[in-house]
Amino acid sequence: MSYDLFLSKEYFIFSCSHIVIGESFFEKLHGHNYTVQVNVVGQQSKDNMVVNFYDIKKIVQPLVDSLDHHLILPKYNKHLEITETDKQVIVKIPRLNKEYEMPKEDVKILPIENTTVEELSRYFTEILKKEQKFNEEHIKSLKVSVCEDDRQGATYSWKF
Ligand SMILES: [Zn+2]
Repeated sequence: MSYDLFLSKEYFIFSCSHIVIGESFFEKLHGHNYTVQVNVVGQQSKDNMVVNFYDIKKIVQPLVDSLDHHLILPKYNKHLEITETDKQVIVKIPRLNKEYEMPKEDVKILPIENTTVEELSRYFTEILKKEQKFNEEHIKSLKVSVCEDDRQGATYSWKF
């Protein structure tokens, strides 16, 4: 027997712009109002909770806030060349002969390969799974869903 605890607060939202690029496609600069949902599957603890909602909020809210109103860039995308100077971030796409330059404080470079919902949901999960609160015996798995709008998103699952 297990419980599937979910948390998807109206303030788990971040508005970001991004560029999506792969081997055969390119989506030029545009934005989304992303939403996040966290699911924790497990049994009840001594306190009759899988995990306290407050403990999830405490981790997810700063993460969401750190991304809000930024251009998000994937650090490990092989089609982008990202250079940082003191104040600026320069992004080159050699294949398309494009170059963007933005103030550093407007940009968040994430340790992912692309700013797809798949990679963003994995990014959130990687951070959450390291938290001690989720590494207790009664917790079996963790899932994070990131959606670009009401009708499209992805969920990454991690089993402990
Ligand atoms: Zn998009």
